[in-house]
This record gives sequence, structure tokens and C-alpha cells, in this order.
Amino acid sequence: MSKPKSYARDEVSDNYDAIVIGSGIGGMATAAYLSKAGKKVLVLERNYAPGGFTQIFKRRDYEWDVGVHYIGETHRPNSMIRKQFDYITNGKLEWAFMGEVYDKMFFGDDVYEYRSGKEEFITSMKDYFPSDAAAIDKYIEYIYEAQRSQRGFFMEKALPPLMGKVVGGRMRKKALKYNRSTLEVMQEITDNKKLIAVLTGQFGDYGLPPGKSSFMMHAMVAKHYLAGGNYPIGGSSSIFDTILPVVQESGGDVYITAEVKEIIVKNNKAIGVRMEDDREITAPLVISSAGIYNTYNGLLANETVEKTGVAETLKKVEPSIGHLCLYMGFQHSTADLQLEKPNFWIFPDNYDHDKNINDYLSNPEKSEIPVVYVSFPSAKDPDWDRRYPGKATIDIVTLASYEWYKQWAGTRWKKRGNEYNEKKEKLSQQLMEALFKKVPQLRGKVDYYELSTPLSTQHFANYQYGELYGIDHTTSRFEQRFLRPKTPIKNLFLTGQDIISCGVGGALSGGLLTASVILKRNLIKEIY
Ligand SMILES: Cc1cc2nc3c(=O)[nH]c(=O)nc-3n(C[C@H](O)[C@H](O)[C@H](O)COP(=O)(O)OP(=O)(O)OC[C@H]3O[C@@H](n4cnc5c(N)ncnc54)[C@H](O)[C@@H]3O)c2cc1C
Repeated sequence: MSKPKSYARDEVSDNYDAIVIGSGIGGMATAAYLSKAGKKVLVLERNYAPGGFTQIFKRRDYEWDVGVHYIGETHRPNSMIRKQFDYITNGKLEWAFMGEVYDKMFFGDDVYEYRSGKEEFITSMKDYFPSDAAAIDKYIEYIYEAQRSQRGFFMEKALPPLMGKVVGGRMRKKALKYNRSTLEVMQEITDNKKLIAVLTGQFGDYGLPPGKSSFMMHAMVAKHYLAGGNYPIGGSSSIFDTILPVVQESGGDVYITAEVKEIIVKNNKAIGVRMEDDREITAPLVISSAGIYNTYNGLLANETVEKTGVAETLKKVEPSIGHLCLYMGFQHSTADLQLEKPNFWIFPDNYDHDKNINDYLSNPEKSEIPVVYVSFPSAKDPDWDRRYPGKATIDIVTLASYEWYKQWAGTRWKKRGNEYNEKKEKLSQQLMEALFKKVPQLRGKVDYYELSTPLSTQHFANYQYGELYGIDHTTSRFEQRFLRPKTPIKNLFLTGQDIISCGVGGALSGGLLTASVILKRNLIKEIY
């Protein structure tokens, strides 16, 4: 298996056609598209593990994924997302379908299953809510319509800014009809509070409750998973591992522990990057997949940003919320523990996501956790038992504010002190308890656990506010024209989750869009 190079150990030459900052799916997809077009691409990754949120980490006898629990559409060979993955991995990445049910929503003792397939989903929702059949049909209609209308919206991002100004308004108009809060749109469909809470239960996939998120984002996620969920066979690191050879085939390379300090701009033109050790690497193209904040608030000099006019528009977007993740290991097989594939979403029983999030954010100690998301990766990956016989893992995720951890921001990983450790221990127990209530056979069987906080996200993935999903998916975000591949700086492009949306599919499509703009080719047409 080919491996990334180490910036500390291996020489980096200066003769690449493009530099990509960040090896997450956004950066790697862009690099792979450019490589397939014959370009020699250098990917620079700050972390010691490649892959951004697709990376895995290992402790003792276990490994865990970090930011990939399920991906929609990849079991359908003709879906856009599967075609993209096949293209950038030369068909090497394989997928395991999660089966009939992909998400299970718990509200107290009530359980609602999200069933794979449009018709199956509709039928099961109508079984749960027989008096709301018309509302459920309407909801699905809205999801499809919102999704269809987004094609023009995202295509517009590929246009040169001047042309965008001329025809952009028209291309964006249809989609923007749905750029209202998810709650507002849902209330137009139904006044059944329970139905709204169940249908918006996946809000954790984009980190904002219905009252705060744009329905455009909600529709993207709901439609993405409607046919079911999938897991990359071999774990989420298979994503990076299968893209890397494609980049290397064209003479490209990925370097880890390679932190970029600055994007070098001369006469409003990006000419390369300056590394943390002050070494300069030049290239005719620079592509940042490090996120909008890192790019505009860190990698570019202030005076450069001032000249672009982006500083003002940057104020109109916000960082998304942070998260906690409890990584658990068991010295029992998935089968012994009777673990299922569907993700669990455990909510308080009042069916009011907005209230629960508000209460929790304003008073975390006294409020119920608004969402406990449980993923069972060892159950989803058919290759798990071969690699880790007799073992199983579980991830539990919930939302958390960066502010709650800010006081420890300057401290070192693993050495943040007793108060921090005690806080983490308390939260770990709380999250485990929520799990044991739903899967009681796990009690007493936990062999290992470790909790990550927004500081871990800051440390490992370089999100300055520990953001879970880059910039927030509010209505204001979708109004911003600067979230596009082309920047006001010549030869500098953006890619990744901040361009289209969060999610592996969102960041992957960001890569496709950015490469299309750079190559001046309609790659969507070519691949699909
Ligand atoms: C807990 C969690 C669960 C998730 N679950 C799912 C899921 O089930 N399904 C799904 O589709 N999506 C999921 N997501 C979202 C998804 O993982 C992300 O939206 C997507 O992977 C983002 O890709 P990206 O390439 O834009 O960013 P990233 O993966 O964050 O990549 C950016 C990279 O840039 C690097 N970088 C930053 N600054 C520098 C620098 N100065 N120099 C060099 N490198 C730098 C970072 O180290 C990082 O590797 C989840 C995310 C999280 C956090």
C-alpha cells in the first residue's frame, strides 16, 4: 500500500503544478481530479495522520473513525457521489450497505426507524403518523424540489465572478426559495410537533436545530440518506488510502506533518506557500482546503485580505458548534454484543430540538443532553472482524460549545489538568449511561473509552473554534457569494466543506467543483 511522505523526513521538490493545503476529502478529491488531468499535485497536511475528518486513530487494540459514520447514495453505482468516488479512486473504494434501517430516533420510549428507500421511508413514517399522510408526502416533495433546485445554485459557483453577476441571480433563485429556516418550512407543511421533531432528527448531521438551520441544508442531508446509509469497507481511512495512489500516479505527493504557515501572494497573485519552518514552496496554483477561517484569518496576510473585500462578508458566516465524541472499545465481538448497524439518535422526550439545544447551550449542567448520537462502526464494516477479531467499537457524539473548553485552550493535549479530566470523566459517564439505557447488554463490558472535546478538534484538525462542520449552515451562509472556488486572489482557489456543505459528500463535491473551475472543464458532465 502506498503511503504519504513525511515533511520532517523526506525532501520536497519545487516543481509541482499545484499545491493543495489539507488532505481531507475536499483536498484529496481536488488533488485527484487535477492528477487525472495530468497535473503533478503536492498535498500538504499539517497533522501526522492524513485524511482530515476521514482519518482514523488507534489506541491499544482498537481503531476508530473520526468523522465518517455513514454516507448516502454510494451503494447506487449510478449515483453522482458513487461516480465521483469511483473516478477519484479508480474504482478501488468499496462500500457496505447498512441495510433496511439506517437511523433510529429515540424520544423517551418512542422509537422511529428511518427505512432505506423513498417509498419505504414514506410508508414507515405514515405508519407512525397515520393522520399526517398528506404532510409526509408534502415533506418528501419539498425535499426533492429543494434538492433539484440546488443544481443551478451550485453550478453558479463554477462561473467566473463576472458572468456570475450577470446570470447568477437567475441560477440561484429557485434554490433560495428554500433558504428559510427548516422550522419555518416544516411548519408550513404540518403543525404536528412530533412529526417535525422526527423528520428533523438528523439535524445533528449539520449541527443546527430546525429553528436555526437553512432548509436547503436539511433537504440535502435528508435526500442524501433517503436511499440508505453506507460505510467504507476497511474503515474510513480507506477513503484516503484509495485516493492517494491516484495522486501519486501523476507524480504528485502527499506530505504529512507539513503545516502551511502562509499563502504567499505577490501582486495579488498566489505563488506558493510558506511552511511553519519558513521554507517556501512555489507552484502556479494554490488550493486551500483548510477551511474559510484558516484561509482568510490565518494563511493570508491581513493586508491581502483587506484588499479582497472578503473581511466584511466573512462576518456574515459563523463557525459551527463543536462536539464531544466518546470512543469506546470492547473485548467482545460485534456479534457477541448483538450490536446493530443503524445509528441511534437519542433525544429528550419533549420533541422540541430547538428548546433542548437552547437550554443546553445556556445551562449545560442543568439540562438534558439534547442529542446523543451513537454509531456502531464495527457492526457496519464487514472487514472489521478480520482486522480486529473478538473486538468491537462504538462512537458516541454530542454537541458542545468551544467556549466551555476555551480556558484550557493553551494547554497541551493529554496534559490539560485535573479539572478538565474530571469534566471529561463526568461527561463520559453521562454519555455511556444514555447508551446503556438503550443497549443494556453493554453495561460492565466497556474495556476502553476516551472522550474528545472541541479542543481535540482544534488540535488535530486545526479548526480554530473546534468546529464540527466548518462554517454553520444558516440561511446567511447560503446567501454568501464568496463561498466559491475562485477567490479574488489570482491562482488561489478554495475547496472542501465550506464551499458547498459539510458532509463527506458535500466536501467531495466541493473538490469536483474546484477542479472543474481550475481545469475549465465540466467534470460533472464528464463523470456522470
Ligand atoms: C464527529 C463527526 C462526524 C461526522 N460524521 C459524518 C458522517 O457520518 N457522514 C458524513 O458524510 N460526514 C460526516 N462528518 C462531516 C465530514 O467528515 C466533513 O464534513 C468532511 O470530512 C470535511 O472535509 P474537508 O476536506 O472539507 O475538511 P477536513 O477533513 O477537515 O480537512 C481539512 C484538512 O486541512 C488540514 N489543515 C488545516 N490547516 C492546515 C495548514 N495550515 N496546513 C496544512 N494542513 C492544514 C487539516 O489538518 C485537515 O486535515 C462528520 C464530522 C465530524 C466532525
